[in-house]
Amino acid sequence: MKTNYYDYIIVGSGIAGLYIALLAIERGSVLVLTKGSIDDCNTRYAQGGIAVAMGKDDSPELHFEDTIAAGDGLCDTEAVRILTDEAADCVTDLIKFGVPFDTLDGEITLTREAAHSVSRIMHAGGDATGEHIEVTLSRQVRSTPIKVLENCLVSEILIRNGKVIGVKALDCRTGSVEEYHCRFLILATGGAGKLFKYTTNSDVVTGDGIALAFEAGAEISDIEFFQFHPTVLRLPGVAPFLISEAVRGEGGILKNVEGRRFMPNYAAEAELATRDVVARSIVYEMKKTHSDRVFLDVTHLPSRLITTRFPRIYSFCRDHGLDITKGLVPVAPAAHYLMGGVKVNIWGETNISGLFAAGETACTGVHGANRLASNSLLESVVFSKRVMQRTEMTTTPRHYKDRKDKAISYCLPVREMLSKAPALNLPNLQSLMWDKVGIIRSGEGLEEAANVLATWESLLSQPTDRPSYELNNLILCARLMTEAALLRKESRGAHFHADFPRTSPEWQRHIVFKENVTN
Ligand SMILES: Cc1cc2nc3c(=O)[nH]c(=O)nc-3n(C[C@H](O)[C@H](O)[C@H](O)COP(=O)(O)OP(=O)(O)OC[C@H]3O[C@@H](n4cnc5c(N)ncnc54)[C@H](O)[C@@H]3O)c2cc1C
Repeated sequence: MKTNYYDYIIVGSGIAGLYIALLAIERGSVLVLTKGSIDDCNTRYAQGGIAVAMGKDDSPELHFEDTIAAGDGLCDTEAVRILTDEAADCVTDLIKFGVPFDTLDGEITLTREAAHSVSRIMHAGGDATGEHIEVTLSRQVRSTPIKVLENCLVSEILIRNGKVIGVKALDCRTGSVEEYHCRFLILATGGAGKLFKYTTNSDVVTGDGIALAFEAGAEISDIEFFQFHPTVLRLPGVAPFLISEAVRGEGGILKNVEGRRFMPNYAAEAELATRDVVARSIVYEMKKTHSDRVFLDVTHLPSRLITTRFPRIYSFCRDHGLDITKGLVPVAPAAHYLMGGVKVNIWGETNISGLFAAGETACTGVHGANRLASNSLLESVVFSKRVMQRTEMTTTPRHYKDRKDKAISYCLPVREMLSKAPALNLPNLQSLMWDKVGIIRSGEGLEEAANVLATWESLLSQPTDRPSYELNNLILCARLMTEAALLRKESRGAHFHADFPRTSPEWQRHIVFKENVTN
C-alpha cells in the first residue's frame, strides 16, 4: 500500500466528519484532517438540539411539512422525505455512541422551537447539546484506529482523469505541505459564518470546503441563502453568544429599547415566527428606536426553568454580570447558518467522481431558502450515513445521478476593477458583507459589494499560511454569495432584497455556480 493512502479521507471534525469517520472505520482505513484542534468547530456550540419526530403527537410526515414550509418553495422534497424518515435511525446511532440526551422518567424530553408545529427537539445537558455530541463522538473516534491529524488545513483537492485522488494539506504549525491519497474524499468543513462582522460561528468556519470544491470544478448551489439568527447576546466587549430559539420557545418575549413588545406587530406567530421574519423585525425595530439592540425578556418565567433548561446561557450571562432571571437580555441578530453550499445528490455525491460533501458545507436541498431550527445537526447525520451507504455500493465508473430540481447554471461574471477599494483585510471583508450582503439587501449595495470583492480577488496572492488561505476562501465564497444574491431578483426565505420585496414564481429555482475546470 502507498504511504499516506487511505480508503476514506474526511476533512473536518464536527458532527458530520466524526460521525462519518465512525461509520467508515467499519469499512476501511480512515484519515480525518482538521485545521484546528479536534473540537474546534460549530458543532460544539449548538444549543437548541436536534429535531426528530418522536413525540406521541408527532410524525415524520408532520416534520416533513414543517421543513417544507420553512424552505419557502425551494426544498428538495425527496431529500426532505429522507431527512424526516431516516432521522430516528441516525439519532439512535448517536444514542448508541453515548450522546446523553436529556430524559425525564426514562423518556427523552422534547422541546419546541420556532416554526415547528409540535415539540420535537431532543437536547443534551439542557442547552449544551453540541458540546455533548462533539465530546462523545471525539471520545469514540479516539478509541478506534481512525487517524486524526489536527492543525492540518486542506488546501487543494487533487483530481486525476476526472476523479478525486486525494488532497494537499498544510501543517499549520510547521508550514510544510503534504499529499494524502484516498478512494473517497468527504468534505465536512462546515459553513462560512466568518464572512460576516457579527456571527455566532467558530473561527474555523471560513467556507474552505466550498472554495476547494468550486476550484476543483464542483457545483455550488443556493449560496445566496444565509440565515441570520435573531437573538445573539449584544454586550459591549463580549463575543457574540447565541441565545437559543428555545428560549423564545419556552415563552421569552422580545421588547424594544423603549420596553415595548413588538413582534405581534410584524407576525401572527409573534416571537415564534421564522428566523428571517424575527431577524428583519428586530432590524426594523432597532432602526426605529435608533438602537443597536433589543431585549429578550424571560423574567416572567420561573427561575428554575431558566437555570435548569438553559444552564449554559444562564451561566454565560451571569459570568458577564447579567442575571437573566431578573434583568433583560440585550440581543441583536448575527450571521448563523449557510443553507447553500457544495451541491450534492441524495447520496452526498458531488458532480466529481469520488468527491462527497456532508454537514453544513453541503447543499442537500433539505433547507431550501430557509432552515427549520435544529434540522442541521439532523441533516449532518442523515446524509453522512448515506455517504457511507453510497461508498459501499460504488463501483467505478459510477453513474452520477443529479437532483431533479429546477436549476440555472452560471459562471462567475467578469467585473471591472475599481481604482479605489477599501484595504483588503478580514475586518473590511466582514464589514462589507454585513453592511451590503446581510439581513436586508439592495441592488445598489450588492453591486457595490460585487465590484469591491472582484477587485480584492484580483489582488490576492498565493496563500502560505492558515490566515491567508482562509481569507482567499472567504473572498471566493463572498463573491459567489453576492453574485447569486444579485441574480435572485425577488425575496424568498432568508434572502431579502429590498428592491424586490416579494417572492416571484419565476424564481422558484436554484442558482448554481460552476467554474470551467478541466481536470
Ligand atoms: C452557536 C450555534 C448554535 C447552533 N445550534 C444548533 C442547534 O441547536 N441545532 C442544530 O441543528 N444546529 C445548530 N447549529 C448549526 C450546527 O451546529 C452546524 O450546522 C453543524 O454543527 C455543522 O456541523 P459540521 O460538521 O458540518 O461543521 P462544523 O461543526 O463547523 O465542523 C467543521 C470542521 O471542518 C474543519 N475545517 C474547515 N476547513 C478546513 C480545512 N480547510 N482543512 C481542514 N479542516 C477544515 C473545522 O476545523 C471543523 O473541524 C448551531 C450553530 C451555531 C454556530
